[in-house]
Amino acid sequence: MSRIFSGIQPSGELHIGNYLGAVKNWVQLQETHAGALFCVVDYHAITGAYDPAVLRARRWGMAKSLLAAGIDPAKAVLFMQSDVPEHTELSWIFTTLTPLGDLERQTQFKDKSLKVESIPAGLLMYPVLQSADILLYRADTVPVGEDQIQHLELARDTARKWNAKFGQEYFPEPKPLLTPTRRIMGLDGQSKMSKSLGNTIGLMESDDEIWAKLRPAMTDPQRVRKTDAGRPEVCNIFQLHKAFSGVEAVAHVDGQCRTAGWGCMDCKKVLAESMVQELTPIRRRAEALDAEPQRVLDALADGAATARGLARDTMREVRGYMGLDPVVIPSAPAV
Ligand code: SF4
Repeated sequence: MSRIFSGIQPSGELHIGNYLGAVKNWVQLQETHAGALFCVVDYHAITGAYDPAVLRARRWGMAKSLLAAGIDPAKAVLFMQSDVPEHTELSWIFTTLTPLGDLERQTQFKDKSLKVESIPAGLLMYPVLQSADILLYRADTVPVGEDQIQHLELARDTARKWNAKFGQEYFPEPKPLLTPTRRIMGLDGQSKMSKSLGNTIGLMESDDEIWAKLRPAMTDPQRVRKTDAGRPEVCNIFQLHKAFSGVEAVAHVDGQCRTAGWGCMDCKKVLAESMVQELTPIRRRAEALDAEPQRVLDALADGAATARGLARDTMREVRGYMGLDPVVIPSAPAV
């Protein structure tokens, strides 16, 4: 059976953007792929300036959110990247195989490096660590959003190069498994959903907070009056309905919108109900984890132990193939 690996940045508590873009899919995948590995990639979060206290809080917030959202430690392996040092060890090995030009061509590097005066080498090496994250577990399937396809291509190249250089078919070439929900824009309809832009809804927000954010959210800009027919295909609220409301409800929204059968507020009220229905159990589980925080630590410790076992096996074999296995007394004179 294929092995799944996917990572998420420790950005604190989940919001609907990263929930729909990744985690909701992970919760489904753990049912069909026993032992899927889900990693909070905290080493990836230190390539820019950051406050250690904030990072600490965000790692916790993300781990708790993932469990609350439905990641089940009995089915999947949930762990913190920095608890498994082999990630950085394999990453170093891969830097020796990766052409500098390939890294400089990465779109995310080009975008991010424009925003800083002095570019940390870590920003450039980020995709190498990402390749190590995946290949350390010899994962062949990686659930990703479209923006990560280029990095995954680099991981495939790296696997090919290492296999060719050391004469082994050891690393699989990991394939992307595109997340079913296409990227949903922020509630402002302008940019990607992000907590810092304040254009999203936190997974733990109350029913009132959800409505307070949905109420002013951007809809089809051409629908000025209630009597104007709308275009659901250009409306972000419709995309959210597709993610949170059932198939029949979505068809109803489509019809009501196109015929001006209802106004946008009616439409948003139905969406708020769907969201509350899906998010309430998540909020309840988060409250239970707040009451028993040791459960989060236990889940991470168990996950790290499993991940470390797999990682050590990989590194022992990789070192062996590369001539880096334990030193022995040579049988022939040293060269
Ligand atoms: Fe969007 Fe709904 Fe308004 Fe149509 S009715 S424009 S789908 S909010």
